[in-house]
Amino acid sequence: MKYLWSPWRMTYIENHIREEGCVFCKVQQQPDSPENLIVFRGRRAFVILNRYPYTSGHLLVVPFAHKPNLEKLDAATRAEMMELTTQAMSVLRGIYHPQAFNMGANIGEAAGAGIAEHVHIHIVPRWTGDTNFMSSLAETRVLPEALKETYQRVKDAWGEGTSNK
Ligand SMILES: [Zn+2]
Repeated sequence: MKYLWSPWRMTYIENHIREEGCVFCKVQQQPDSPENLIVFRGRRAFVILNRYPYTSGHLLVVPFAHKPNLEKLDAATRAEMMELTTQAMSVLRGIYHPQAFNMGANIGEAAGAGIAEHVHIHIVPRWTGDTNFMSSLAETRVLPEALKETYQRVKDAWGEGTSNK
């Protein structure tokens, strides 16, 4: 059986972040920039670049509320998260023209969530053959310049591309 890379296997990376406290609560307090990586703020949730992306444009949709799972959020927040997830895919299609997406969440540490206390949805653009590409880069840190470029492209595209605000 062919090995398929899964974006949900992120325990190591998210554990690495956990030492600093809840990063999703912390970044909300900072101004949006290539440093805090928030590309869009909604009313109940925000969209942020994954600091350790698996492919260019790997986004996270995160509620402002510090809750460990979807059941603990109110319905309006869940609805907005799904809307932002949809908008994220639309924005990413416009920039990167991916052939597919992985979208989902690790709920709880046993599922592989590193930041298990603050639920979030991953959106990862995918291309045929990127598994081999990414496995060769899996241990390589993404250059800050590349992340800054991604940040600007996604932020700009979000400003132009969303019509329901
Ligand atoms: Zn939090």
